[in-house]
Amino acid sequence: METQLRRENNMATTTLTHAAAPGGSFLLDASRTEDVFTPADLNDDQKLIGQTADEFITKEVLPLAQELEQHKPGLMPQLMKKAGEIGLLGGGVPEEYGGTGLDKISATVLAENLAGYGSFGVSHGGHAGIGTLPIVYFGTPEQKQKYLPKLATGEWLGAYCLSEPQAGSDAQNALTRAVLSPDGKHWILNGQKMWITNGGFADVFIVFAKVDGEKFSCFIVEKGFPGFSAGGEEKKMGIKGSSTTPIFFENCKVPKENLLHEIGRGHIVAFNILNVGRFTLGAYCLGGAKRVLAVASKYTKERKAFGKQLADFGLMQEKLASMAIGLFAVESMIYRSAGMIDRALSAAAGSADKTQQSMKVLEEYAIESSISKVYGTEVLDFVVDEAVQIFGGYGFHEEYPVARAYRDSRVNRIFEGTNEINRMLIFQMLMKRAMKGTLPLMQAGAKLQEEILAGPQMDDSDDNPWAAEEKGVASAKKSFLLAAGAAVMRYQMELENQQEIVAALSNIVMEAYAMESCLRRGQKSAAARGAASSAMGDAARAFIYDAGDRVEKFARTAVCAAAEGDSQRMMLAALKRFWKREAVDTIALRRNVAAGVLAGDRYPFDGK
Ligand SMILES: Cc1cc2nc3c(=O)[nH]c(=O)nc-3n(C[C@H](O)[C@H](O)[C@H](O)COP(=O)(O)OP(=O)(O)OC[C@H]3O[C@@H](n4cnc5c(N)ncnc54)[C@H](O)[C@@H]3O)c2cc1C
Repeated sequence: METQLRRENNMATTTLTHAAAPGGSFLLDASRTEDVFTPADLNDDQKLIGQTADEFITKEVLPLAQELEQHKPGLMPQLMKKAGEIGLLGGGVPEEYGGTGLDKISATVLAENLAGYGSFGVSHGGHAGIGTLPIVYFGTPEQKQKYLPKLATGEWLGAYCLSEPQAGSDAQNALTRAVLSPDGKHWILNGQKMWITNGGFADVFIVFAKVDGEKFSCFIVEKGFPGFSAGGEEKKMGIKGSSTTPIFFENCKVPKENLLHEIGRGHIVAFNILNVGRFTLGAYCLGGAKRVLAVASKYTKERKAFGKQLADFGLMQEKLASMAIGLFAVESMIYRSAGMIDRALSAAAGSADKTQQSMKVLEEYAIESSISKVYGTEVLDFVVDEAVQIFGGYGFHEEYPVARAYRDSRVNRIFEGTNEINRMLIFQMLMKRAMKGTLPLMQAGAKLQEEILAGPQMDDSDDNPWAAEEKGVASAKKSFLLAAGAAVMRYQMELENQQEIVAALSNIVMEAYAMESCLRRGQKSAAARGAASSAMGDAARAFIYDAGDRVEKFARTAVCAAAEGDSQRMMLAALKRFWKREAVDTIALRRNVAAGVLAGDRYPFDGK
């Protein structure tokens, strides 16, 4: 089976032809439909990777969920090793080190399909993502040779130790210390890590500690090293089948050669790896939420009230449709980003240091990765919450599957950088690129200013069936430029202390990316079928219309806080002008989308 996965990936090529758009550039440039990767572009090999993963979860993992929830000793690591035997753990590891070296799109399909049981998804991410990739990207040839083949097959399992009791978001405030032993042969580690996924059974730990109490650095620590110990399992609200423990280092002796990357450069390892983890977390959330939607849809046909099936009530249909529309937005963004990452990776494939180039590409798309994390986790939370509501009293019952999904979902907004931290990062990263001149945001802002001063223009009559949606996407981008311009002008370098404004601006960025991704996918699908209307078209139109309302609100909030007097009035008038549009009956659109969900009792746009 592993050879099968490897063969599938060798053949996994995307159908896209043009150079990848730089990260964050979606805010400035209108993308072309044919350049946007969508699930309809997945090839047979990529689909097969998804089927293999889905079958594994359905046949091997879910039947054992009860025992996993009760922490049956040894069961989760046993399943992880089984996943390793069929090649499901080595996606991030190059083939020369025994992995399957999956491209980003295939890795996204894999993560999405491994998420049917939240605890397994988290354990998989803790091992195959953040527990393994630091060695892939930053290891020496000797470190790679020693650890990667065993991590790729699951012979050894991995974990990532960054957080400490007093330092989670503020990870560089770590107290764990490393000093070189008097004979110069070992690093001696002292300190404690907290909330470590896979802590109870992992063999290899990526550990961050400050050399001489100052230089933030990273080490590869094996569980057998003297002075290493794992504490007891945390009693958690959800993902109870996963292992989360503290880790202790008491004069722990780590061989000198197990320093990973350079002394004082641990933050480069930590943040780049979290960046990859964030993207993948969005994909896990997407896969988990699709399963919950399917369960909820089925239930609306099993349960009757007032002599009707729940499925016949408009308010139940509205919920199913909103769940599917949120998923459609997340899926459209994630696969679009994965397509851009793969294109950039193939452009860099000829370079001498392929691994370093890959790291650079992933850094380039850090904004899209944070969006994947924030939007993916929040849509999953919405989906599980609505599923509980659809199940009514039974939704609150532990014997029904949605209660567990509800509890399991909650942690996603907390780890891999809280959603608050990621919102701050999205805007900060954009500003950094603007200051460096790699993203001409200032120039675009100045051009918009001229457009506003020139006064209202007549709208061109346009027979494009997507004209309203195109305008909505353009208005979202303009709203960002306008509101961000006001905020930067008023607060300049102090803007990062105005967190509410920054979050509102990041929300606009996310909505703009989601709107455009939905639009391009809807257009691509309509062009392929030769018809503009379909449940997918309706999902795209409903999403874009509603997102427009949200964008206008976020932009008003930011402008009201950042501008005063005439300048504020002028900006609010411009916003009003951007958002002057024909009304859309989103209830009718949602009914069509709900019909699509109910027709198959599943998310209706899979692979489309
Ligand atoms: C089940 C589970 C598994 C985990 N697995 C791992 C793992 O494998 N490895 C690992 O290293 N860690 C892991 N973590 C830890 C996780 O990454 C941290 O909990 C997370 O980073 C948040 O840190 P904290 O808990 O210290 O919260 P805090 O940093 O104290 O944050 C508390 C609140 O304050 C907000 N906040 C903090 N700073 C700011 C700011 N600058 N601006 C605005 N708001 C702010 C946060 O958004 C949050 O809402 C795990 C946690 C859990 C619960």
